[in-house]
Amino acid sequence: MAKIYYDADAKALEGKTVAIIGYGSQGHAHAQNLRESGVKVVVGQRPGGENYDLAKKHGFEPVSAAEAAKAGDVVNILLPDEVQADVYKADILPNLKSGAILMCSHGFNIHFGLIQPPKGVDLLLVAPKGPGHLVRSEFVAGGGVPCLIATRKGDAKAADDDMADESSSVFKIGMAYAKGIGGTRGGVIRTTFAEETETDLFGEQAVLCGGVSELVKAGFETLVEAGYQPEMAYFECLHELKLIVDLFYQGGLSYMRYSVSNTAEYGDYKSGPRVVTPETKAEMKRILDDIQSGRFARDWMLENKAGAPMFKATRRREQAHPIEQVGKELRRMMSWIDEKEVG
Ligand code: NDP
Ligand code: MG
Ligand code: MG
Repeated sequence: MAKIYYDADAKALEGKTVAIIGYGSQGHAHAQNLRESGVKVVVGQRPGGENYDLAKKHGFEPVSAAEAAKAGDVVNILLPDEVQADVYKADILPNLKSGAILMCSHGFNIHFGLIQPPKGVDLLLVAPKGPGHLVRSEFVAGGGVPCLIATRKGDAKAADDDMADESSSVFKIGMAYAKGIGGTRGGVIRTTFAEETETDLFGEQAVLCGGVSELVKAGFETLVEAGYQPEMAYFECLHELKLIVDLFYQGGLSYMRYSVSNTAEYGDYKSGPRVVTPETKAEMKRILDDIQSGRFARDWMLENKAGAPMFKATRRREQAHPIEQVGKELRRMMSWIDEKEVG
């Protein structure tokens, strides 16, 4: 079982400046929570967009990534994963103070070696297990989103990835940071860069984003192809998923099964294993192999270098799926839904 920490010595960050690079989902939450915890924060955010204006509105004086890196004793890169390495090489690396700590909230770039710290710079990961708006709203409400913590000595190799050394100064700074954003109120789980990165990628690919989207589409298509109305298929295969997931969230699989009818529970046991078969699990294992070997990361970075043609074409095609068309119409009938539209 994982080791979980609920408190930290906040002194570890005393007198230090934390540079938050990027004022997006995570950045805006970390910067404000840390400031309200008494930590000195410098925001690095490029001008010209909504996030720059938001940082100003929140009372920060945003500077360039280079300026922020210069000022930071702790430098957290909170940019999209696919742009981190370029910004790091151009703006952060040349300006890092010696003895600074380089931070992230997802280990992708560090684990796959796309960001390599200079000598004497230790690595730290503090990753809230929730989106930035929740990290902020929970903090304001007096709570906190649980976090993961990982550390690595600057000169260690990914292959030597080890659980964070609790006695190290970088670990203490990481715990003070987690406390500053509210994470210790929820609990902080010790992990490694490898474990955080690989489990995160696997979860989003096999289950949360890839797995669920394909499952929903396949169910919708099966009903529509059999002659049922698309509106009915939408309700049964997409809309009602929220009710089920809310039950999972509150009490796991057992509570969902307790709450639905016995007929639904019997059908779950009888048919679920016909949908997710041993072959599905074997494919999941192959997906995990691609993540562990670095093949997935390499493909994603190459895709970006080429201007993301496959990514953009797939996004367009997926947005045109009939389930998206019928969904748009139906959501307009449900005034309580905070309706969002993309594409
Ligand atoms: P966002 O996409 O919300 O924020 C992006 C930020 O990066 C914005 O400030 C944006 O500025 C800036 N940015 C984007 N492109 C560039 C560029 N080319 N050059 C300079 N700045 C740029 O990111 P997230 O907060 O979602 O993610 C940050 C990190 O946190 C990632 O490592 C992610 O994996 C991790 N994470 C995210 C979670 C989440 O739920 N979102 C949860 C846990 C971890 P502009 O407005 O000008 O484009
Ligand atoms: Mg992820
Ligand atoms: Mg039903």
